[in-house]
Amino acid sequence: MTAHDIPGQSALAELARTTARRCGVDLDAHAGDRGVSSPVNGEQLTSLSWTSADGVDAAVARAQEAFRVWRTVPAPARGALVKRLGELLAVHKDDVATLISLEVGKITSEARGEVQEMIDICDFAVGLSRQLYGRTMPSERPGHRLMETWHPLGVVGVVSAFNFPAAVWSWNTAVALVCGDPVVWKPSELAPLTALACQAILARAIAECDAPGDLSQVVVGGADVGQALVDHSGVALLSATGSTRMGRAVGPRVADRFGRSLLELGGNNAAVVGPSADLDLATRGIVFSAAGTAGQRCTTMRRLIVHSSVVEELADRLVSAYGRLPVGDPMAEGTLVGPLIHGGAYEAMQDALSRAAAEGGKLVAGGGRELADAAPNAYYARPALVRLPEQTAVVQRETFAPILYVLPYDDFDEAIALNNAVPQGLSSSVFTNDQAEAERFLSAEGSDCGIVNVNIGTSGAEIGGAFGGEKETGGGRESGSDAWRAYMRRATNTVNYSGELPLAQGVDFSV
Ligand code: NAD
Repeated sequence: MTAHDIPGQSALAELARTTARRCGVDLDAHAGDRGVSSPVNGEQLTSLSWTSADGVDAAVARAQEAFRVWRTVPAPARGALVKRLGELLAVHKDDVATLISLEVGKITSEARGEVQEMIDICDFAVGLSRQLYGRTMPSERPGHRLMETWHPLGVVGVVSAFNFPAAVWSWNTAVALVCGDPVVWKPSELAPLTALACQAILARAIAECDAPGDLSQVVVGGADVGQALVDHSGVALLSATGSTRMGRAVGPRVADRFGRSLLELGGNNAAVVGPSADLDLATRGIVFSAAGTAGQRCTTMRRLIVHSSVVEELADRLVSAYGRLPVGDPMAEGTLVGPLIHGGAYEAMQDALSRAAAEGGKLVAGGGRELADAAPNAYYARPALVRLPEQTAVVQRETFAPILYVLPYDDFDEAIALNNAVPQGLSSSVFTNDQAEAERFLSAEGSDCGIVNVNIGTSGAEIGGAFGGEKETGGGRESGSDAWRAYMRRATNTVNYSGELPLAQGVDFSV
């Protein structure tokens, strides 16, 4: 089969059913009236029932019960569960990857990469389970010890986006579990099968480790089901990944009930290419970041700010590379660009291209629909390159599709200003062999994003670092480094072993 032969409805439906079964999910047991489609051919894979608002309440209540037990289990013993989850994910790597390709259209290599990221975060969390360190600070009083202790927080609600249908859950869940917290997950309504498979794999690990059965639950549905989690006072931390529009609705509601939120929202990521850049390396880095995952990563490169001395040569190289990108069935060997998630995404792409043209832009590569004959209900598009003289209104928005706007600059200060002149602040990079340029981009007066790279693209982060961004990206940090702190509560402890009662700040209160 080549990338131009798109598999039919029954073939993909059967593949979904058998793959889900291997992960431990019987789709008949979840049957209902809500269709689940594949962007690969635009046809229905299966239909499921969704969780009601009462169902969300019940799930949170069960999670609260599980919390009472789990918070008392020593953290390294909690790590043993996550270790087993990682082992089972390795066994089912291809199965989960297949479901990701079926539901969101990722090419096989990227879908397997997403599952590898899940295995990696499990490894990280297992190590973390012995490193949930608190500090001891010098007390100002004799015979006193001042320290902090980190305790489990409570139920973590996870709302996730379609484009990382499994990894975002694992970032949250692996860390939450070692921190002592149960998870209730509301996956994207576009990728419920992947979620049910992940849940079944974790349920097996939980049973094998004799951990509380309700440590992990999935509630399936749309924004209203997510909202029930958002508003639930029993959810201590609401971790939401998705569009800025969603975050704008969710953030204030969680704040209103004094809950904790962790927001991972939209990006509008740029790379700056300086005059000294290695253009071979830059071209490869840019094409992966801008066209990979069909432009549907939060870290997708959407803006390219290029020194005027190299902009023509780089644009030529990109036009040539874009023309050669294999677009097609994401599960066929050799495909690098799969489908857009649905027709709405294709329309948003066309709308942005028309606006860019009206704002003085010139489409120099791609942008059109492909494979419409082979798959009339699917939306494949050739990634687009648009030359723009300046950063116009259309560039301010995140269009979740493969469009790269190419803008010239003359002065490095101007390049940094352009990088920062959008409402979002997720990822950024600079391609340069000029050390001073690289350092300035990384410095306090450089890029204002949460992720700032040198000589690699904007996407493809490793799990070891904290992931997230500033401004309209929401300010949350997940995954590595000290992101675990969001999943725990800190208690500050003062212990007096002096036999006296000296007061802090020298206060005298003798009676
Ligand atoms: P989306 O905002 O449409 O949906 C995301 C999730 O939020 C879904 O589960 C949805 O049902 C839920 N939701 C929507 N409105 C809600 C509400 N009012 N209350 C509660 N839940 C609600 O996003 P999408 O189209 O699935 O994903 C694409 C977007 O996600 C892009 O903007 C992308 O940049 C962003 N994203 C960000 C990150 C990150 O880490 N920063 C990672 C992946 C995706």
